[in-house]
Amino acid sequence: MTVTPAIEADVLRRQDPELADILLGERERQATTLQLIAAENFSSPAVLAALGSPLANKYAEGYPGARHHGGCEIVDVAERLAVERAKALFGADHANVQAHSGSSAVLAAYAALLRPGDTVLALGLPYGGHLTHGSPANFSGRWFDFVGYGVEAESGFVDHEQVRTLAHTRRPKAIVCGSIAYPRHLDYAFFREVADEVGAYLIADAAHPLGLVAGGAAPNPVPYADIVCGTTHKVLRGPRGGVILCRAELAERVDRAVFPFTQGGAQMHTIAAKAVAFGEAATPAFAAYAHQVVANARVLAARLAAEGLVVTTGGTDTHLITADPAPLGVEGRAARGRLAAAGLVLDCCALPHGDARGLRLGTAAITTQGMGEAEMIRIAGLFAGVLRGVTDPSRAREEVRELAGGFPPYPA
Ligand SMILES: *Cc1c(COP(=O)(O)O)cnc(C)c1O
Repeated sequence: MTVTPAIEADVLRRQDPELADILLGERERQATTLQLIAAENFSSPAVLAALGSPLANKYAEGYPGARHHGGCEIVDVAERLAVERAKALFGADHANVQAHSGSSAVLAAYAALLRPGDTVLALGLPYGGHLTHGSPANFSGRWFDFVGYGVEAESGFVDHEQVRTLAHTRRPKAIVCGSIAYPRHLDYAFFREVADEVGAYLIADAAHPLGLVAGGAAPNPVPYADIVCGTTHKVLRGPRGGVILCRAELAERVDRAVFPFTQGGAQMHTIAAKAVAFGEAATPAFAAYAHQVVANARVLAARLAAEGLVVTTGGTDTHLITADPAPLGVEGRAARGRLAAAGLVLDCCALPHGDARGLRLGTAAITTQGMGEAEMIRIAGLFAGVLRGVTDPSRAREEVRELAGGFPPYPA
């Protein structure tokens, strides 16, 4: 079976060869370079099949059994299935599977709990907070009074003392824990305790680790947070989208914050694909995957450190690694460019100390391809060679192509 039937179908080739070439070109790029962007993954053929299905045609404003459109009896079953699977997977009282993205999930969480002007305590953007955690360029920074906590400059770990002090002095209405670049588990019990001390809501933005939670490879924020926001496309390996989990008492507020407050019609093809992904994530194979993701990241982090990069917090508990390449004689942005030229695709990120940019990478996608610890060692060696300028760039590119070729993300 081919994986992207809609792409390769003669239909598209005949009708729009220009677009067919673009899609096949991207498929080729993904198969011949290494996707080390920590937020990316390869969703399964079944997820892609649901995404490319006629459910995409259906208008379905509202919730199952209470829609504003006719003809929803079949998509209602799909949404109920997605909700039930999400609740079972994460042990949540309630799940909303309509959020179009991780950012939409966070917007809805704020809408459910806050009023414009409220104070919110979140990890500061220079330390790995997301745009929705108070960036002045984002609705969050414009509509709420964000106070940022940080990480300890030396260790890179969350500064728990600062969290508690800021909570007591600034009295936020909500505390947000979650990050785009934090490689360690968060202490959800600690955040719950501080939130209780000051009467604040706790919102866990678990966009990154939610897939590890599903696989039992990271702590579950659901028992601690009032609302948990997540994405379904990162380690969780489903379609691009968001999910919100909460206690029963907040179910109606959360649902109304998604529709009608911040969104219109639900994307039923994506919701069906989320149901598929939640089903996959409940299997022993996925648990093994999640644990391998972390094992791979630990080996990769240790090897990068051995090559001389400064790994933030000295390692990782998750799929995610951040590191400063400066000791190899190259700063973050230039390093990202050199690595990309070799086919090693990753991001820059802030570092806990100073203004220099670091590198952020993750093992979710390459582990889906079946790579293991031996490949991590090879990748770390490639990194060091490219960054030190000792490996010829075209030779490095060939080596990456050969390595990727041994682990095709999709069957041919
Ligand atoms: C990825 C991410 C988001 C946003 O997800 P999108 O689907 O890109 O909108 C929000 N918060 C955190 C912590 C993230 O890592």
